[in-house]
Amino acid sequence: KSRPEWVAVEEFLSDVVVHPDPALQRAVQSAVDAGMPPIEVTPNAGKLLKLLVGASGARRVLEIGTLAGFSTIWMAQGLPDDGRLVTCEYLAKHAEVARANVDAAGLGHKVEIRIGAALDTLAALETEGVEAFDFVFIDADKENNPRYLDWAVRLGRPGTTIVMDNVVWEGAVLDPSMDEVNAPGIIVALKLMGEDSRLDATVIQTVGSKGWDGFALAVVR
Ligand code: SAM
Repeated sequence: KSRPEWVAVEEFLSDVVVHPDPALQRAVQSAVDAGMPPIEVTPNAGKLLKLLVGASGARRVLEIGTLAGFSTIWMAQGLPDDGRLVTCEYLAKHAEVARANVDAAGLGHKVEIRIGAALDTLAALETEGVEAFDFVFIDADKENNPRYLDWAVRLGRPGTTIVMDNVVWEGAVLDPSMDEVNAPGIIVALKLMGEDSRLDATVIQTVGSKGWDGFALAVVR
């Protein structure tokens, strides 16, 4: 077979159930056109983020890892019109593409893109004394996942929902030699989710166009 059946099933589910709108399709294509890596979440996962933002009643979302703004748009669609989403992106080029996509989606008024290393941005947000975030999506350099998780708790409040993507990493969580840069950060973050008394968490494994992976869902106690 030329591709696993779960990729065809993912497309079927996306077509039949998820229905990504033209602004979202544009965001994916813009990343391809700009030569950016195709590492955005799947439409099915993006829609899950939107629904979780809406179902949790979030008004303030923090995203770590913007890329072309695909997950940003999904989550901003789940926010009320006066909701706010702050997203952290290291690369100015990615931020520029994301800004255009978010604006084209009619969501520019909700979204602030902060350029720079996310750890610096997170520290700045704390210094500025911003209002607590209700929902945090962690999807950047996996090495820093334990630090991002800690920041998510510090910048959140009891009840804040945290989603961390790519926590199975083709099974590298059981064999860190598969990726010595990223796997240790993923493993430490998962252990923190299981042990940290401030968090209550679970993990769902996934297969699809992005391979064998999974996401963690945690709630701040
Ligand atoms: N969340 C996006 C989506 O699903 O559409 C995908 C994000 S992509 C997996 C990760 C992004 O994080 C890249 O755009 C990368 O440049 C950015 N990034 C990597 N390291 C970073 C850091 N230390 N601080 C901020 N952004 C970083």
